Amino acid sequence: MTAPDVRHALGSTLADADILTEIEDLIPYGFDGTATLKERPLAVVFPRSTKQVSAVVKWAREARVPVVSRGNGTGLSGGSVPVAGGLVLCLNHLDRIVELDRANLTIRAQAGVVTQDIFAAADAAGLFYPPDPGSMKISTIGGNVAENSGGLRGLKYGVTRDYVLGMEVVLADGSICRLGTACVKDVAGYSLRDLFIGSEGTLGIVTEVLLKLLPRPTARRTLLATFAAMDEAAATVSAIIAAGIVPCTLEFLDRRTIQCVEDFAHVGLPTDAEAVLLIEADGHPAAVDDEVAHIEKLCREHAATTVRVAADAAEATRLATARRSAFSALARLRPTTILEDVTVPRSELAAMIRDVEAIALKHDVQIATFGHFGDGNLHPTILTDERDTAEMHRVEAAITAIVEAALARGGTITGEHGVGLAKKPFLRRQLGDASYSLLQLVKRSFDPDGLLNPGKIFDLPA
Ligand SMILES: Cc1cc2nc3c(=O)[nH]c(=O)nc-3n(C[C@H](O)[C@H](O)[C@H](O)COP(=O)(O)OP(=O)(O)OC[C@H]3O[C@@H](n4cnc5c(N)ncnc54)[C@H](O)[C@@H]3O)c2cc1C
Repeated sequence: MTAPDVRHALGSTLADADILTEIEDLIPYGFDGTATLKERPLAVVFPRSTKQVSAVVKWAREARVPVVSRGNGTGLSGGSVPVAGGLVLCLNHLDRIVELDRANLTIRAQAGVVTQDIFAAADAAGLFYPPDPGSMKISTIGGNVAENSGGLRGLKYGVTRDYVLGMEVVLADGSICRLGTACVKDVAGYSLRDLFIGSEGTLGIVTEVLLKLLPRPTARRTLLATFAAMDEAAATVSAIIAAGIVPCTLEFLDRRTIQCVEDFAHVGLPTDAEAVLLIEADGHPAAVDDEVAHIEKLCREHAATTVRVAADAAEATRLATARRSAFSALARLRPTTILEDVTVPRSELAAMIRDVEAIALKHDVQIATFGHFGDGNLHPTILTDERDTAEMHRVEAAITAIVEAALARGGTITGEHGVGLAKKPFLRRQLGDASYSLLQLVKRSFDPDGLLNPGKIFDLPA
């Protein structure tokens, strides 16, 4: 099969402009946000309707051509890299918010809608869509569902899964299927909807989602606390949780990240601090004031060197910038930035950060760590240069050591970025043989020919 064959075969299904086959056009669709993984697809197609998705998938099945779904390629585990060639099916022209239903507090959107646009549409109606991946200005809601993305408000509000009521999907044979319902309660049979959330494009293609919304919290306050010892920051987090307070955001930056962010965003962070916690409370104004006062007291009791409560929304945004710009700030240091993603039980956080520091020293690589402390979800970020082969060997060893340390501490190999290609070598070890085989059986029953995003999450036995 050649690219011209694809154009010829799909020419009656898609407009000419919605099929890319020239090499220079294909290159950007061969990688995602994962620094070191790339492959070239045979062609890229941009369907504009579910029917077109279905027609493309039917053709691909007959022609035995792999199909890799793609939102906006911000994934951080290599999920949309077309390792087996074939078609990249890019959903970002399905970009319509279909309906916002105030009576039922739901929003229906096509898969290619950018996450921020969902948040903004809800906000404009006085409602709230809580999941907020750091990439929300560019990632698509279909990609968020496929990865079960988390975000900065995960501690209080959970992740994408907690907001998906239903969805429309195109299955491997091209049939169109609706999963879930608009009902708040629905326990009819196995939850196929839940199976699809986090399935990374390996079971079918999400074309539309129905999301739950919440009433918008009426108040929000932000607080930034700095610590001379990382253990004190971790102890503060435990104390906040133990006090029964659930902030909506509880984020962490280590010393190296603080320095980079300050150089980049000039937020006024103390660059000699060992750790910074960014904490946000939201809800009813009186409750929020109460929570912030309590959190401030706990920070001081745990030796915070400074505690700054934002006086107004503008200052809150400035403080939040400290966390939101972490990745961009670090990315300026070395040519290649590898954003790792492991989660440990919260009680293991301080020890896990010490593990990461020891691993960086042992393997002689630069690692900065930030993340969602409240969720136990850390992003050790490796600052490297993919052109330096010797260094990349050390980086690989460091990544393996980080993942093994997380598992040894009762953690998981990925808290939100998914398995994709990057975490594939570690999955069986986390799940054990029986669960791993069950996942493969599920994949086989949805996609017997193995044509949907092949090579991701696990390989299938021949
Ligand atoms: C700076 C930065 C910050 C980030 N912060 C976060 C964060 O805070 N939390 C977090 O969880 N992630 C984060 N990410 C990772 C990434 O943004 C998410 O994984 C996001 O959900 C990917 O969306 P996308 O539209 O770009 O999907 P893509 O990268 O295009 O695809 C991701 C996966 O989903 C599949 N897929 C995409 N669309 C569909 C569809 N319609 N149907 C079926 N499968 C599909 C693809 O095949 C692939 O396996 C961040 C990434 C960057 C670059």
